[in-house]
Amino acid sequence: MKINSALKAGLHLRNRFNTRYDFPQLIACSPALAVFVKSNAYGDDSIDYANPLAVKALNQALLRQAYGLEHWDIPPGYLCPPIPGRSDYIHHLADLIAQRRGPSVRVLDIGTGANCIYPLIGASEYGWSFVGAEVDPAAWRWAQKMVAANPSVAGLIDCRLQKSATACFHGIIQPGEHFVLTLCNPPFHSSAEEATAGTQRKLKNLGGKKTGLNFGGKANELWCEGGELGFIRRMIEESAQFAGQCEWFTTLVSKSEHLPRLEQALRRVKATQVKIIEMAQGQKKSRILAWRFGSAEVRHPA
Ligand code: SAH
Repeated sequence: MKINSALKAGLHLRNRFNTRYDFPQLIACSPALAVFVKSNAYGDDSIDYANPLAVKALNQALLRQAYGLEHWDIPPGYLCPPIPGRSDYIHHLADLIAQRRGPSVRVLDIGTGANCIYPLIGASEYGWSFVGAEVDPAAWRWAQKMVAANPSVAGLIDCRLQKSATACFHGIIQPGEHFVLTLCNPPFHSSAEEATAGTQRKLKNLGGKKTGLNFGGKANELWCEGGELGFIRRMIEESAQFAGQCEWFTTLVSKSEHLPRLEQALRRVKATQVKIIEMAQGQKKSRILAWRFGSAEVRHPA
């Protein structure tokens, strides 16, 4: 048996998925993974990352092994998230709030998806409590059922349906409700066609065949009016109206060329603090944009 100890480049130090996977152990935890594990060209155990069923089985094994989450699943065709990358966002958020733990850290996930991955990881790692907002009713219902099926986190996660495609916080944040953090992995394409082409490209890069199977997510999960830039600019504008109810607003920004216009939008709404937190997963670079209004001292008197 090989010892998988090599660190994966760029991941957060507390990320428990930052070493190579120990497949025999994962299979012991989740036997359904076994059929997908093969020796790769270097003689190492691996799976075919272009096969959505293999990636789903790997995720199920990882979430079961790391957190005891027995019931993670996604409906056919929905976005299958890479767990190490999603986990990194959560750990960087923890650093932003000095690693505070427990359910009094209330977190809002905008677009939690059917996979509900950020609340599941955040509740398991730090005991934070979450509201997961989702605009797609089928994804929302799925996420709700899945959370209920996992007793270790069921009391910590509340999934809410967003009824407006153009709102992030309105209709979700209730009067008098407070959040320490908001987070978001925004839909990044600007049309359904672009989203479908992006999925096929991703699959091709992974060496997979063109297929009707939507590995990278349903096209309508991945696009919105104005693409990533439009979505985040709307979020920034709306955030100013919730300045007193959220300590930190954050979002992933997949394209660095969007940053100057987003920083301009943040100046317009008079955000008082802006941070850009770089992340890397192997070759893939991404970043978290975080902003706030007012200071920690005002919001959290000693
Ligand atoms: N958080 C998940 C899913 C991200 S995909 C993950 O990281 O894997 C983006 C999600 O945002 C989709 O599920 C889409 O339906 C949802 N979405 C799009 N606009 C939204 C809005 N205004 N409010 C809430 N969710 C939205």
